[in-house]
Amino acid sequence: MRHTIIIGTGPAGLTSAIYLARAGLNPLVIEGPEPGGQLTTTTEVENFPGFPDGIMGPELMDNMRKQAQRFGAEFMTGWVTKTDLSQRPFTVTVDGYGELKAETLIVSTGASAKYLGIPGERENVGRGVSTCATCDGFFFRGKKIIVIGGGDSAMEEANFLTRFASEVVLVNRRTELRASKIMQERARANAKISWSLNRTPLEVVAGDLGVRGLKVRNNATGEEEFIEAEGIFVAIGHTPNTKFLNGQLETDETGYLIVRPGTTETNVPGVFACGDVQDNKYRQAISAAGTGCMAALDCERFLEANETVPVSVS
Ligand code: NDP
Repeated sequence: MRHTIIIGTGPAGLTSAIYLARAGLNPLVIEGPEPGGQLTTTTEVENFPGFPDGIMGPELMDNMRKQAQRFGAEFMTGWVTKTDLSQRPFTVTVDGYGELKAETLIVSTGASAKYLGIPGERENVGRGVSTCATCDGFFFRGKKIIVIGGGDSAMEEANFLTRFASEVVLVNRRTELRASKIMQERARANAKISWSLNRTPLEVVAGDLGVRGLKVRNNATGEEEFIEAEGIFVAIGHTPNTKFLNGQLETDETGYLIVRPGTTETNVPGVFACGDVQDNKYRQAISAAGTGCMAALDCERFLEANETVPVSVS
């Protein structure tokens, strides 16, 4: 029986762990198959305040984890298969451990970038393939880049990447773009963006020095084509990781958890959500960490108000 269980160990979950641990609530933190979250698959992080020379993503997450442990947060590695939020204490079922109980729950399971699932893609993440322009665009200064996708994310990433790239080629599997009119217009007005529409991505081609380009099928002719580029940004959407909640928390139409504006409160009192699982707009490590702090404070206040434990808000 715990005061709080935190599910997920990206910047949101670990920041809430630091705050709750410092408040003497020794939270139990459950880390899944990708401890540290999306930042562990990126290389250098240059925009997290406090690191003037940048820091490697995995190192940043390792530091956050150690900081939480220093104040008494406990960690458990396991896959949460089920939750029962119908009554407090809540029940969390972890594969291999069984059922755990907690008065409050912080959901910080993030969102996973969707991948195409084509050969050469996964093995070149960090070697030219990326799903985050804000994180990795800087490394492609003066280089030719491909952005894959036809939604708002792809338009936004393509526009953003023209700050660095010599040229951005936007590849979409259909001729029509799903993106909103305004985002399309902005991208079309950008002279650095060229268009390779109606092309289905087939394979990421890489050599010893990283990505060399993308093999595509021209859907009009059926022919294979090769587009040269040193960077490939896959921007085909994200999936919030909420399966284990089994529909017990309110989500928007795209599956992101809904929180009461200005708070991290979900529709179930005592359950809080932070980080990318409730944010399809900013999706930054620093904004996730910020909402992680909010979740911890919301959680402390909830425990205090419900007289579950005498706590002082840190
Ligand atoms: P979307 O689902 O809107 O678009 C995904 C794009 O990727 C589509 O063009 C889709 O093609 C393509 N795609 C999906 N799977 C594959 C595949 N296997 N192979 C090739 N192409 C594929 O996702 P977004 O991330 O762009 O947007 C998600 C939400 O976030 C939207 O509501 C969007 O408006 C919002 N958003 C808003 C922003 C803003 O306002 N600044 C910025 C970014 C996102 P197809 O069309 O053929 O299915």
